[in-house]
Amino acid sequence: MDVEDKISRIIKLLTSKGYKATASRSIIIKLFVESTEHLRPEQIYLLTKEHGVSLPTVYRNIDVLKKMGVINEVIMNNSRYYELSMFSKKKLHMHFQCKVCGQIKEYSDSHIFNELIEQRDYVEEIFNDDIDDIMMVMSGICSSCKNNKQLEDDSNLHTEDASREILENTLAYK
Ligand SMILES: [Zn+2]
Ligand SMILES: [Zn+2]
Repeated sequence: MDVEDKISRIIKLLTSKGYKATASRSIIIKLFVESTEHLRPEQIYLLTKEHGVSLPTVYRNIDVLKKMGVINEVIMNNSRYYELSMFSKKKLHMHFQCKVCGQIKEYSDSHIFNELIEQRDYVEEIFNDDIDDIMMVMSGICSSCKNNKQLEDDSNLHTEDASREILENTLAYK
């Protein structure tokens, strides 16, 4: 299914529920279908305002799309992010946000998936609740920030070495 097919399917779903297919709505839907990122309302606004979409329109459409199960809300670091959930094969996935660079990663391998299902079954059995969604957000330092930090530490070490050498040389000179 290509982008256009997905957009028209979403619009068909919305109009079948009595929502109008406005130009702004189509632009926002297109953004979600094409984006692989997790978008904040302000980002959606920045990316669509040149087409005349206002911030209140963004919020209104987020509400509608969320209610219709087209997009998914993820809260990370007190911010709300949205991603396309319709047509997504990664129904169940875990999010990770780096505290240093802010990038968001997703984990969705089958190992994690199976473990989550097991935990869900366990919780359902113990508490007798019906769970239909699992949302998990992890935070920490991503691998590239960790590598950068390592490089920084190494170069600090070299600077220390160098200054010690200068000091030693100065002392020797005296
Ligand atoms: Zn990072
Ligand atoms: Zn995600």
